[in-house]
Amino acid sequence: MKTLGLLGGMSWESTAIYYRLLNEIVRERLGGLHSAKLLLWSFDFAEIAERQHHSDWDGAGLLLIQAARKLESGGAEGLLLCTNTMHKLADEVQAAVSIPLIHIADTTAVAVKSAGVDRPALLATRFTMEQDFYKGRLADQYGLQPVVPEQAGRDMVHKVIYDELCQGIVSAESKAAYIDEIARLRRDEKIDGVIMGCTEITMLIGQQDFDIPVFDTTRIHAEAAVAFALS
Ligand code: GLU
Repeated sequence: MKTLGLLGGMSWESTAIYYRLLNEIVRERLGGLHSAKLLLWSFDFAEIAERQHHSDWDGAGLLLIQAARKLESGGAEGLLLCTNTMHKLADEVQAAVSIPLIHIADTTAVAVKSAGVDRPALLATRFTMEQDFYKGRLADQYGLQPVVPEQAGRDMVHKVIYDELCQGIVSAESKAAYIDEIARLRRDEKIDGVIMGCTEITMLIGQQDFDIPVFDTTRIHAEAAVAFALS
């Protein structure tokens, strides 16, 4: 089994989910007392979020690169960036190390396509919904047509991620607001699936809330990582 290096803490709420999933999936695959071999670099998310909200992507990239190199020199053989948003810097991180980075958008796109979904809603941080690094990759490399909410919906989805989920708050009102937003996108935009494009959204909603396919990027990414580790 290969050792995975996790760039986590963005936020730790979802990194804790990754940790559990990676170990559970290895146990499912290998049985008995088997568990995932991994190294975790867990950031103080306040330091990352401050750079994100001041558009200091170079500064954030430097932090990611330093940590990725430490994971590599510690023995990691594959890298997981445990957040969709920070994949904005995936190319820079990949260029700084010689181990492969398992890209969350690629693993998600493969799952979306193999479910026969073409026009998924993308719920994520404002950065992921509004910039091109994620949507563009889904469209250009996989022929998908991701749909994001309108401004008010994007603001709501973003605020719930930072003010609630990343702080461990899971509220019935926010769950209802996310479900309403998806109902609106189904009616107005004819979406045929939902990408939970933020690793904390799995705390709030899931397949059980919808009758169209839902793609949990945290789980999809963790499954791809274990497949890599056991290959
Ligand atoms: N974990 C989130 C994501 O998947 C948001 C936090 C962050 O900006 O990294 O995008």
